[in-house]
Amino acid sequence: MKKSALTLAFLTGAAGLALAQPQPSKQTPESTEIWEPVPRIVTAGTSSPAASGLTAPSDAIVLFDGKNLNNWVSSKDGSAAKWTVADNAMTVAKGAGDIQTKQEFEDYQLHIEFRAPSEVVGTGQGRGNSGIFMQGIYELQVLDSYDNRTYSNGQAGSIYKQTMPLVNASRKPGEWQMYDVIYTAPKFNKDGMMLAPPYITVLHNGVLVQNHTAIKGPTPYVGLPIVKPHGKGPIKLQDHGNPTSFRNVWIREL
Ligand code: MG
Repeated sequence: MKKSALTLAFLTGAAGLALAQPQPSKQTPESTEIWEPVPRIVTAGTSSPAASGLTAPSDAIVLFDGKNLNNWVSSKDGSAAKWTVADNAMTVAKGAGDIQTKQEFEDYQLHIEFRAPSEVVGTGQGRGNSGIFMQGIYELQVLDSYDNRTYSNGQAGSIYKQTMPLVNASRKPGEWQMYDVIYTAPKFNKDGMMLAPPYITVLHNGVLVQNHTAIKGPTPYVGLPIVKPHGKGPIKLQDHGNPTSFRNVWIREL
């Protein structure tokens, strides 16, 4: 190949990344159709926000179906989870502590519904506080943030003490709400250096509140994130002393 041809190949190749594909000499409507593979069929769940919520699609792992806590254990010692189960919901029980899934995950789509107590008790962080920890480490805040001011990076939909939600889409206390989460786990090299952070996208009641947000590290109450390498991890739910309820918890691994 002559130098000029090389240069041309390089230029068209580089441009091709962003723009042009090699054009076939003759184009038809069919030449841009892709038929294989065929996306597999998933039967979507049913949606009834006020009544039964959004049920799991056919290919999801159901983490809580409203009946029992068989898929959950106490985060403290791995013993049976002791939250209350009633009316298709599980509720933080006094002194029961955090609970987490037995199964561990990396990248996933997570659906989870929550409800702050209808009887409003406390203010700020003391009102309907719970949390959903990705891989047991990174907290997506659950709080009753309906007419309840607190620090913005600690309200509902925040990555706790890091990234505030884009908007406040909270419903009134006592009403069921939902988070739809798309999460990708961080990548570490063999020396434990973080090559890529965890990323999270969150819809709160169908409204985007976190848009491919990079999580900086763990989400402690005091201090800045200190990154530690880890592998797969559970979904952990926080006992913050408020009787917050959850239902329709399901996950699709990616
Ligand atoms: Mg919390």
